[in-house]
Amino acid sequence: MFLAQPEATHAAGLDRLTAFLPHAGGDYARWRNHDFGPAGGNRVSGLSPWLRQRLLLEETVVEAAIDRHGLDGAEKFIQEVCWRTYWKGFLERRPIHWHDYHAACEEARTQQSRDRRLAADIDRALDGGTGIEAFDAWVHELRETGYLHNHARMWFASIWVFTLELPWALGADFFLRHLLDGDPASNTLSWRWVAGLHTPGKAYIARSSNINKYTNGRFNPGDQLNTQVSPPEGVERPPVEPSPMPVDWRLTPTTGLLITEEDQLPETLLGRHDWPLVMAVQTTGWRSIEPVPDRVRAFARAGLDDALARNPGARQAGPLELTRPADAETIRDAALAAGVDHLVTPWVPTGPTADAMAMLDQVLEAAGIRRQPVLREWDSLHWPAATHGFFRFWKAARPLIVERQAARSA
Ligand SMILES: Cc1cc2nc3c(=O)[nH]c(=O)nc-3n(C[C@H](O)[C@H](O)[C@H](O)COP(=O)(O)OP(=O)(O)OC[C@H]3O[C@@H](n4cnc5c(N)ncnc54)[C@H](O)[C@@H]3O)c2cc1C
Repeated sequence: MFLAQPEATHAAGLDRLTAFLPHAGGDYARWRNHDFGPAGGNRVSGLSPWLRQRLLLEETVVEAAIDRHGLDGAEKFIQEVCWRTYWKGFLERRPIHWHDYHAACEEARTQQSRDRRLAADIDRALDGGTGIEAFDAWVHELRETGYLHNHARMWFASIWVFTLELPWALGADFFLRHLLDGDPASNTLSWRWVAGLHTPGKAYIARSSNINKYTNGRFNPGDQLNTQVSPPEGVERPPVEPSPMPVDWRLTPTTGLLITEEDQLPETLLGRHDWPLVMAVQTTGWRSIEPVPDRVRAFARAGLDDALARNPGARQAGPLELTRPADAETIRDAALAAGVDHLVTPWVPTGPTADAMAMLDQVLEAAGIRRQPVLREWDSLHWPAATHGFFRFWKAARPLIVERQAARSA
């Protein structure tokens, strides 16, 4: 899908959306499960890197698809966009899954350091040397392009967990580092879903016939896959936390704007102002304790540059790397130098950037500077329904989309 590095700008995201729109109706519904490979031919949108960083908004994509095909005509595509909203809301309401994922990574790394055979098996899988041709090809495709088709992600994760019998969290970590769209909610929760940790009694089992059919005969693992899978028992259902509430924010002469890689269209939420300070912070390194590839860092950074260009201020700073407490002090000093005591920022959902923000907040608060996250209407309307499965969520989301559409055309 991305043989060349895609351009991380709002304009490039809109261009891709425009090019894809003719295919967002029946074409998508018919062909979305087929993965014809990196050389081309896939009928999915490839919009995920822009949606991930909110260089494109879910509502923009949904509205454009409805304008072109109607809600019924583009329903399959719109549902898929809403899977993203669902996973974001689901994790926001159960942040414990993010913390458990970290704990699972740590436990697996300890195991790996003690068990030479496991360490060798993991290395072989990550080098694309398992001998399962399809799996090995996907490893190379992900490393070389930063993208995998959804079906390939499902097959990959299933083979990782059930055939290669490797710790799910290390597979999720490999994805989160290498995907241009690497997202804490979609990635962690999809891996949990495949591994049978999301829906009690259900896991996703990759089958050779399915791979052969949907890769158009490119791959056929034959009897190499383990299909005798028993989903894990005793899947825990942690309590659901309340959905975050929108809060009012006030613009004062000492209010600055803070941009993160979670939402790179702040002007569509907060408006355009004569900000005394506009700051952008890069937190890509928090996605993993392993190095994050340059192409992923570069995509996040270019998105921050684009956001800075659209949001001028009396002063601008960044993109500033936020890795260590000393970086947080640099950010604090920039705020103090601009006379800012209040930094408003689009909502930072559970994940690596929120982890980085917890460190930043300590330093800011000690200097009397408050960071205020502002929730988007799309999230505040949809996340309350992210309590059970997707189809219950969709039952609530569809009428909201219909209502929104009616308001647009009124
Ligand atoms: C194991 C696994 C890991 C995944 N990790 C990520 C991840 O880190 N980041 C990520 O954005 N998606 C992830 N997905 C979901 C999905 O694979 C990608 O969003 C999709 O492949 C992106 O390609 P596209 O833009 O062409 O999608 P399209 O089919 O064109 O869909 C349009 C948009 O809808 C959203 N979307 C579509 N399918 C899903 C889905 N199943 N879950 C959530 N959102 C969806 C994406 O934002 C996507 O850009 C994962 C899926 C699996 C099975």
